[in-house]
Amino acid sequence: MQEKSSAIRAQVAAWFDENSQRYAALSKEIWDYAELQFQEFRSSKLLMETLQEEGFTIEEGVAGIPTAFVATYTNGQGPTVGTLGEYDALKGLGCEIADTYRPTGGPGHGCGHNLLGAGAAAAAVATRRAMEALGIQGTVKYFGCPAEEGGSAKVFMVREHVFDGVDAIMSWHPSNANIVSEASAMAILSVRYQFHGRAAHAGVCPHLGRSALDAAILMDVGVNYLREHVQPDTRIQCVISNGGKVPNVVPDEAEIWYYIRAPRRQDLDEVFRRINLIAEGMAHATETTVEWHVGTGASTNGLPNSVISALTRKNLQEVGGPRFDDADRAFAAKLNAGVTIQEKAQSMGQMYAITDPDIYRQDLCEYIQTERMAGRVAPYSGDGSDVAWQTPTAQLNTCCQPVGTGNHSWQQVVCSGSSIGQKGMLTAARVMALSMCDALCDPALLKAAREELEAHLKEYPYVCPIPPEVQPGMPD
Ligand SMILES: [Zn+2]
Ligand SMILES: [Zn+2]
Repeated sequence: MQEKSSAIRAQVAAWFDENSQRYAALSKEIWDYAELQFQEFRSSKLLMETLQEEGFTIEEGVAGIPTAFVATYTNGQGPTVGTLGEYDALKGLGCEIADTYRPTGGPGHGCGHNLLGAGAAAAAVATRRAMEALGIQGTVKYFGCPAEEGGSAKVFMVREHVFDGVDAIMSWHPSNANIVSEASAMAILSVRYQFHGRAAHAGVCPHLGRSALDAAILMDVGVNYLREHVQPDTRIQCVISNGGKVPNVVPDEAEIWYYIRAPRRQDLDEVFRRINLIAEGMAHATETTVEWHVGTGASTNGLPNSVISALTRKNLQEVGGPRFDDADRAFAAKLNAGVTIQEKAQSMGQMYAITDPDIYRQDLCEYIQTERMAGRVAPYSGDGSDVAWQTPTAQLNTCCQPVGTGNHSWQQVVCSGSSIGQKGMLTAARVMALSMCDALCDPALLKAAREELEAHLKEYPYVCPIPPEVQPGMPD
């Protein structure tokens, strides 16, 4: 076992010495494409071609999504491990690689998914090469997951059983800290309430009208009162997405659109039930009718697996943080001009429980946070959570952007296309490759991970948050 472990480490290190530049360039090519959700044709093609050249077989267009794919390498009987790749960009976040904000007006990789997709590909290929060189039997899969930014592609992929039969998944996301967190992400539901009333001339005969807008506004008031009586971590946000056309017509149609978030799916279902009662109550009060539709913007709370997380954390400690140089540090300091020490402390504390003031004085985090964060709830939601209900999953973060700058910021766009992001990406890829190789050689570990998941599912069976009639690409 010890011998095998050393051989894996030597093989993976040699692979990264030889191939790091290639995958940094791959991530930059996807950064240049900056394709929006469900439109990632060039990005997914580039990743598929790269994996195919390395001996993976490709299944394209899975779960009815043209830019979703699965790449598989197998060399015989054994466990199956996998990694998740994303590659969608964000609207309007495009900017030039510079130390000040120079927007282009186009889309940009403001969540670093170019790094995410290319880094996961490097991990899958490094694993596949180690399997071949060292006679490790089993299967490694790369799941090409488009449309993370609101499209919930992974939830649809789960619904179509794309992840069935996988023993463990090592996933990652670019970040500003180095951590394997067992914090859960929030469950989320996107719901549109549509009120139907009766139009009337607002000056001449308003008494004949029944205002759908009134109903929507009253629903907002009702939900404001509900907020005091839900668990404190619950988040309920809305916009009036249709409030009528002109003031001189009593609006006969109105829509109020909610995002409901709660730490656990079962809590969310209860808040949803109560919000529906408010909708019905306000429809009754205004003599309108109401219907509601759950959209594609839904995912379950996160379920990090402690066994797979512990393995990944051990490998992160072994590999160490990204190796930034003085030029990276100087560049990060310029990107961080205007970010106060309080802002740094707040974001590093809230997201990663990093309380060491030394970290706030730096602009790039090279430190490894070993705190597990188990039992905490991170303030975001993501479609990767649903994968963790099918397959024991770990979530790794590495520093790819300055301390204190959030996701979806121009600083993240800049870093995702330059050396800081690429160094973070290669660190993550190496940790994931080691973890996948280790897992393939350790059936007892995979069994323990599966048992932990099964025990949870016994108490809380998985129910897909997206209704069966809702299809990929429909409104969120
Ligand atoms: Zn994002
Ligand atoms: Zn993201």
